[in-house]
Amino acid sequence: MAMTDLDADVVIVGSGVGGGSVALSLAGTGARILILERGERLPREPQNWDAEAVFVDQRYRTSDLWYDGEGNAFRPGQFYYVGGHTKFYGTAMFRFRERDFDGVSHEEGDSRPWPIRYRDLEPWYAKAEQLFGVHGHAGDDPTEPPRSTPYPFGPIPHEPVVAEVFERMRMRGLHPAHMPAAIDLHPGGTCVRCGTCDAFPCRIGAKGDAETRLIEPALAHANVRLVTGCRVKRLIADERGSSIVAVECERGSETLRIGARLFVLSAGAINSAAILKASASSAAPEGLANSSGLVGRYFMNHNCTAIMAITPWRTNRTRYPKTLSLNDYYFGGPASRHPLGNLQLLGKIQEPMLRDVLPAAPKWSRRWLADHSVDWYVMSEDLGQPDSRVQPRPDGSIVLGWKRSNMRAHHRWVETAKQLLKDLGFPIVLSKPFGTDTPSHQCGTVRFGEDPATSALDPYCRAWDHDNLYVVDASFFPSSAALNPALTVAAQALRVGEHLKARLHEF
Ligand SMILES: Cc1cc2nc3c(=O)[nH]c(=O)nc-3n(C[C@H](O)[C@H](O)[C@H](O)COP(=O)(O)OP(=O)(O)OC[C@H]3O[C@@H](n4cnc5c(N)ncnc54)[C@H](O)[C@@H]3O)c2cc1C
Repeated sequence: MAMTDLDADVVIVGSGVGGGSVALSLAGTGARILILERGERLPREPQNWDAEAVFVDQRYRTSDLWYDGEGNAFRPGQFYYVGGHTKFYGTAMFRFRERDFDGVSHEEGDSRPWPIRYRDLEPWYAKAEQLFGVHGHAGDDPTEPPRSTPYPFGPIPHEPVVAEVFERMRMRGLHPAHMPAAIDLHPGGTCVRCGTCDAFPCRIGAKGDAETRLIEPALAHANVRLVTGCRVKRLIADERGSSIVAVECERGSETLRIGARLFVLSAGAINSAAILKASASSAAPEGLANSSGLVGRYFMNHNCTAIMAITPWRTNRTRYPKTLSLNDYYFGGPASRHPLGNLQLLGKIQEPMLRDVLPAAPKWSRRWLADHSVDWYVMSEDLGQPDSRVQPRPDGSIVLGWKRSNMRAHHRWVETAKQLLKDLGFPIVLSKPFGTDTPSHQCGTVRFGEDPATSALDPYCRAWDHDNLYVVDASFFPSSAALNPALTVAAQALRVGEHLKARLHEF
């Protein structure tokens, strides 16, 4: 194994929301912070905004193969770049609702309470919104939690087609709300409404992603370093197994061992669990941080369905559609006693995105559908199941045995949303569920809690089993709620970062 000059005080694995937020918290402290990122910088190039390149050629998706629970190979919607999945995210930056933290009763079971409450995270949500430059408007959404600060920027105005839907929803007594969005779209901002965004990288850096909002500002400090193209394979514990002493990683053809005093694992909910399990040794045969046996279990990913609501007599020319969200059915309501979930606008669907869904249809018909549709994302909560699992294979690939849950509520929500859209004046409504190959909202695989028997991490995301190991990405979620996860990952990671600052002298 090669020797390196990379040893640091704190090693952070992954440069996404979790890793980036911790790095920024520790920037300027004097401790030597080293971020190890498997990917490279995502190039800014014309293909960034080209649906053919992004969806048909899958230019940015990993070429790794994973396996589902039945052993079928698939190429997952995983993107390994500096900034992690936020390079491709849809910029929706929601706070979870207060009741999400308490545990919510669903049709097919209860979601698990969190070891912290909304009030514990509220100041960190406010800080995360500032860092990501979130636009929004408080007061429209009946489920929204209390806030100590206004949104950093006002709401992004709806474009005409969306404004009309917004008004029609209001006239039906609903409470559509402006979607909180991290995008530089205001007078003087850099966004040019390119017409892509959700699932595309931003060619001009106008998206509030983890690279631009966290990693770049962190690297402006002399104590933070980033090494790209460096894939961490496993963590190495000391002889007693109580502390982590090094990470083993591959960079090019070299295998490196990098030591540190403190380790922050932020490789995303699937890869972090896989790394911990791949770090098994005779002292820890089930992997590190895993005396509870929970690592890799309770994988969650939201139940999501895309809907195209079509009006044949009007072309939808909306460039930035992600301005409207509806939470009237989030905790139930007339359509159901039980929670249904969130409805929000999806990025604008383009013809190339429909090719694998409608391969036999002529191109003109796919283009017609895309030109005339308003596109929606229907999301409901996935309740963690013990046998919903992430398991690394000896060859380094991953088995993602996702066991969906709460699907009766999801189906009911999709049917309710489709009927609502018909009632709002869209005569044709088509839907398509997202599958295991799209683990965009992955979470829950190394959950935090108050009891080492029923959680792998303490309420500050420190491994119960190892005093100097923190797992700070969407792994820590004990429940998935039914809202986009990135702001919650950032808020908790900033909270952990502050806690780590106070602990640095101990190591
Ligand atoms: C297409 C898409 C749209 C989305 N839209 C939204 C949205 O609108 N709103 C929202 O809230 N969320 C959205 N999400 C989800 C959001 O991006 C994630 O919840 C968030 O990025 C999770 O942060 P994380 O820190 O857990 O992981 P990530 O952001 O995935 O970061 C993990 C990092 O670790 C690196 N890594 C992985 N393995 C290794 C290894 N072995 N060694 C070193 N580095 C490694 C990865 O390359 C990556 O940089 C979307 C996701 C996708 C894919």
